[in-house]
Amino acid sequence: MKHHHRLLLSLVLGAVAGLVCHSFAGNGGLQMFNRYLLEPVGQIFLRLIFMIVVPMVMSGLMLGVYQLSSHHGLVRVAKRTLLFTVMASSASVVIGVSLVNLLQPGTGLDISQMLGDAAGVHKISQNVAQAKPVVQSLLEIIPKNPLQSAVQALEGEMLSLMFFSLAFGAALAATNGGKPSRWLELLEETYAACLRVVDAAMQFAPWAVFALVFQSTFKFGHQILFSLGFYVLVVVAGLLLQQGLVYSALLRLFGGIAPWQFFRQCRDVYLYAFATASSNATLPRSLELAERELKLRPEVSRFVLTIGSTANLNGTALFEGITVLFLAQVYGVDLSLAQQVQVVLMSILAGIGTAGVPGGSLPLIMILTQQVGIPAEGMGLILGVDRFLDMCRTTLNVSGDLVIAALVDQPRQNPV
Ligand code: ASP
Repeated sequence: MKHHHRLLLSLVLGAVAGLVCHSFAGNGGLQMFNRYLLEPVGQIFLRLIFMIVVPMVMSGLMLGVYQLSSHHGLVRVAKRTLLFTVMASSASVVIGVSLVNLLQPGTGLDISQMLGDAAGVHKISQNVAQAKPVVQSLLEIIPKNPLQSAVQALEGEMLSLMFFSLAFGAALAATNGGKPSRWLELLEETYAACLRVVDAAMQFAPWAVFALVFQSTFKFGHQILFSLGFYVLVVVAGLLLQQGLVYSALLRLFGGIAPWQFFRQCRDVYLYAFATASSNATLPRSLELAERELKLRPEVSRFVLTIGSTANLNGTALFEGITVLFLAQVYGVDLSLAQQVQVVLMSILAGIGTAGVPGGSLPLIMILTQQVGIPAEGMGLILGVDRFLDMCRTTLNVSGDLVIAALVDQPRQNPV
């Protein structure tokens, strides 16, 4: 059985077992079983992922901006790529955040009441008290001491760590003129090692999904599953809006390209991205399509697509924004304006610093949720449906890369 099938099966089994036991939630034996067996199983998985987040985010972001801001003389191409990447990524997060605020897929559960004094889930609504003025929060994005940000990344310093990584990555690129360096090798190897740790943790994920979903349905009953279905629909709607509105507008406005014809030409690559759930695995197909079908200049498409497959993940950015706010609604966490701004900024950065592999965005989601005080157990809920959403968001990720490649390639008459 494939890994994602096992995850789905675990979700179903965990949900069914949790629902059945929900009716006997007062039973002491069941509570002990949940607390001393299932909770630790879920926690092992969550801790393995947390463990790797700091090196992964730092090396991922440094690599991303390094590649974006330096490339052997292709300065104009790099600048346009950066500009369109930021535009597309920001638009996707704004769509996601607006949709989730408008449709509120996670509200109505009143989980904060159901939680009572449930062990381990105690951060709810603490955030309101901790909320800082927006100006202060924005100022604190620039860290006084990056080492302290790394140490306290899981306690709210993540954004400043990301800022440091971006600044350092850009400075590295500027210092050695974008030539390959030992730093680059070190970052690449660090990042590859982090991915291996995530892979190893994912082997454990089916057990964790069972345990985490069991806990949710055991505590909250069937309503949580309705919210989950609604959440999936909201993510898919957001991805479709980004494709149908934002990409179409960008293609028309900045490239004079007819969007639907363009999308039709790309459909094979979309299918491939959907099936593999990996931007990296789709890269060879995208490169081929860009040169053969879209007739983009190879020097442009190779640069934009290669970098885009790791540093321009618009679908991922949109998904991260929706997921964090959805979980905040589910757990009754009231986010202040400053915290919502933080989620938006971090989601945009997540689109730059995430690996183009299946489930690449999961470590970042954990950090984002942690950052705003959502219980880490929320991960269990979304993991069960993540493969499907991963397939959808990867399709948009790849589509975004092709759109940006086509835009950077314009106007054709100007030499790069
Ligand atoms: N699977 C995505 C990609 O490869 C990354 C993610 O969002 O998990 O583009």
